[in-house]
Amino acid sequence: MISRRALLASLATPLLAQAPEPVIDIHQHTNYSGRSDAELIAHQRDMGVTVTVLLPAGSKFGLAVGAGGNDTVVALARQNPKQFRFFANELPDIPEARPVIERYLKAGAIGIGEQKFHVDADSPHIDLLAAIARDYNVPVLMHFEHGNYNLGFENFERVLKRHPRVNFIGHAQTWWGNIDRNHKQTEMYPKTPVTPGGITDRLLSDYPNMYGDMSAGSGLNSMLRDEDHARDFLKRHQDRLLFGSDCNDRNALDGNCQGVKTLAALRRLAPDKAIERKILFGNAAKLLKISV
Ligand SMILES: [Zn+2]
Ligand SMILES: [Zn+2]
Repeated sequence: MISRRALLASLATPLLAQAPEPVIDIHQHTNYSGRSDAELIAHQRDMGVTVTVLLPAGSKFGLAVGAGGNDTVVALARQNPKQFRFFANELPDIPEARPVIERYLKAGAIGIGEQKFHVDADSPHIDLLAAIARDYNVPVLMHFEHGNYNLGFENFERVLKRHPRVNFIGHAQTWWGNIDRNHKQTEMYPKTPVTPGGITDRLLSDYPNMYGDMSAGSGLNSMLRDEDHARDFLKRHQDRLLFGSDCNDRNALDGNCQGVKTLAALRRLAPDKAIERKILFGNAAKLLKISV
């Protein structure tokens, strides 16, 4: 026998227990500036993230921030399979690149990256990554930073042309600076208003295999430097932009967390709710085949 009160309570439950809207964060790291797994798990929960994609370092350099390698992201994702997925990574210009990346793709990696190495953006090394990515039907995430990583951003278009079936995700200072047609390549965090039609803007318009990762100070700055431009940019590229945090904050709730600021900026500047949902969830779910 079920009481009238219990029956009413059970009917009301689905409304009361309504889950928050899901969010996918496509850019986080283990051991980021020494942050522990427990701190990372709490940080992602406090940001309101449903699924986090962990991007490992290669066998050297720790992505220049001490980030953990392939085994650390596999371990955290195995312990928390609902909350975490992972990419595979290795330096692209060493003989181990293909066997190591393939080993972790076979172990369940859903992409390749974060590629943050001192090679040319248009090079046989990136062609090798594209060949692996095509075989496994996964995207490649690229950190473009003038003078440091994936050099010669202006030549990357040739890679997109040669590999039309491979999806690439652009990230970092040089990717975001080049939304501006007047971008100076030595400038890392420009504060001036944006003139549309920069290299990044054009790649997103002209190549269906090009995506943009909104993470890090560079992604946030690209919106805050010119909010009118940002509204229009989010609208024009609404099917290609992906929320990521890439922040090393220990605490997401102290008012200083960059990931929280990026989420807030996207929610404020997205021209409508449908566009906001694509950028915070739908585009990543489709590209990375993530279901929650
Ligand atoms: Zn990066
Ligand atoms: Zn990163």
